[in-house]
Amino acid sequence: MSDEDYAPVEFWTALLRGWSGRCPRCGKGALFSRFLKMQSHCPTCNQALEPYRADDAPAYFTIFAVGHIVVPLVLIVERLGQQPPLWFHALLWLPLSVILALYLLPHIKGAVIALLWAHRIAAPKPSSGGLDNNSP
Ligand SMILES: [Zn+2]
Repeated sequence: MSDEDYAPVEFWTALLRGWSGRCPRCGKGALFSRFLKMQSHCPTCNQALEPYRADDAPAYFTIFAVGHIVVPLVLIVERLGQQPPLWFHALLWLPLSVILALYLLPHIKGAVIALLWAHRIAAPKPSSGGLDNNSP
């Protein structure tokens, strides 16, 4: 990966581009071909996107965010609603949690990819010889 792959882009600009599902380098090409399926390259500027692997980080951040949004709301409703029945909580918070997670996950994944790109944290290319390459 050469320095030419990294256009000078402000960190927050790259992060916002990633959050919107756009290439962190040019801001025009789509990061995803489907819901969470990454493009291998930006269709606009040809930036390689494959080396930037978010792995499980977006799922962890999404769970963290949804939990910090839903749990206070549950407590507020519990306090102000004078302890509504459990079916009410289930009817309200389960769909809200799922909808929030499905909304936030691609945004957070895009932001994580942009963060990795901005800090040049690319996964190493896999070696052709497998794990036994360095064994004597
Ligand atoms: Zn691009």
